[in-house]
Amino acid sequence: MNRKEFIAACGLFGISLPFQSVIQACSNDDETSITAGNFNGTVLIIGAGAAGMATAYLLQQQGIEYRILEADISYGGRFRTNTSFTDFPISLGAEWLHVSESELPAIVNDGSVQIKTITQRYSASDTYGYFSNGELNVVEIGNEIDSFIDQKFKNSSWFDFFEAYIVPSIRNKMQFNTEIVSIDYSGSKVMARDTQGLAYEADKLVLTVPLKILQLGKIDFTPSLPNTKQQAIAQANIWGGIKIFLKFSEKFYPTFLEFDDSETNDGQRVCYDAAYAQNTSENILGLFAVGKQAEPYQNVNGEALKNYVLNELDIIFNGKASETFQDILVQNWNEQPFARAAYLADVASSSTSRDMAKSINGKLYFAGDSYTQEDDWSAVHTAARSARNAVRELIR
Ligand SMILES: Cc1cc2nc3c(=O)[nH]c(=O)nc-3n(C[C@H](O)[C@H](O)[C@H](O)COP(=O)(O)OP(=O)(O)OC[C@H]3O[C@@H](n4cnc5c(N)ncnc54)[C@H](O)[C@@H]3O)c2cc1C
Repeated sequence: MNRKEFIAACGLFGISLPFQSVIQACSNDDETSITAGNFNGTVLIIGAGAAGMATAYLLQQQGIEYRILEADISYGGRFRTNTSFTDFPISLGAEWLHVSESELPAIVNDGSVQIKTITQRYSASDTYGYFSNGELNVVEIGNEIDSFIDQKFKNSSWFDFFEAYIVPSIRNKMQFNTEIVSIDYSGSKVMARDTQGLAYEADKLVLTVPLKILQLGKIDFTPSLPNTKQQAIAQANIWGGIKIFLKFSEKFYPTFLEFDDSETNDGQRVCYDAAYAQNTSENILGLFAVGKQAEPYQNVNGEALKNYVLNELDIIFNGKASETFQDILVQNWNEQPFARAAYLADVASSSTSRDMAKSINGKLYFAGDSYTQEDDWSAVHTAARSARNAVRELIR
């Protein structure tokens, strides 16, 4: 099965949004809480995105000693936000909660914590546009809404949720500007080295870097990774991706806008109201594209990219885009040095993610959106679930 088939098997039909929801009942992650285990050694966590931070947080709850080594200047990885473009946080990567809101307390793993983050579902009166053969048709979502559980964070984001509930207890254990380039797990301890040649040692290591980083051979392993993992890495179909945000003086677009190529086996593309559920009067249109559909936008830069996007929108909306344009923000994930792509394709085989999730010799563990034990991947909730699975196994 691949993720696309999994979503279909979950019975979610209706409007075919690229980032379509996956219902909770389909999850293999039945056990949500983590209970104390026997392990009391030390752990290195490589990467401070959703999986790395969730892993650290769970180890902290268990009183296990750990340290996070992060290549970038701060935490967040592929759910980081921009707070200067407009008056609400723009999600440069992950934006929607694709599963039920019960996933949030599962990440916090502490019943005594009252979660104040609010998510908002779309409503039947929201609008859906389809542009095909030079014609735009806009309708209300109406009855299709029942099959649609993707949620926005209300005046908030995935990043804000982690910042509120996860980061405070792990902040002091994060070390930034530390890009790991080699991992030696041949001895009784695991040793990681950074670009300066500095060595870090622990009993176990949890690797959470994006799969593309491994595919590009950015980290050397001693001994080499097992053949099944090497094959999974080499064959993984990883989509590149871009998000573009445009500020306009008027809102002339529907809540969602799809095209003939919005969802294909090669990639996805959609425009959407990025200001939805945010406390703002700004008009921000988001454009999300991954895989082949991202390439036309990734092949141009600066003014040329702005003109390309405005021209596309002008054709659909009779010149309204250029007429009301104010500003543009671009996040090309292929150019981010510690991501180099968007995520494992929805049409990839489940075996890729499952093979990547397997630990090695009780020393090397994998957590992250491409290292999952379920037919669901490439999302924050799957990264967090994979952290729970890795920690359960590690502390056993
Ligand atoms: C355009 C786009 C849209 C998305 N939309 C959604 C959405 O709406 N909803 C959703 O749930 N998900 C979405 N996702 C997916 C989601 O962002 C990811 O699945 C999730 O954030 C991955 O978390 P992670 O911890 O596995 O990886 P990351 O967040 O990538 O974390 C890995 C960390 O490792 C660090 N790192 C890399 N190399 C090294 C190294 N050598 N040494 C040390 N550190 C290193 C990186 O800097 C990074 O901080 C989207 C992603 C993209 C790109």
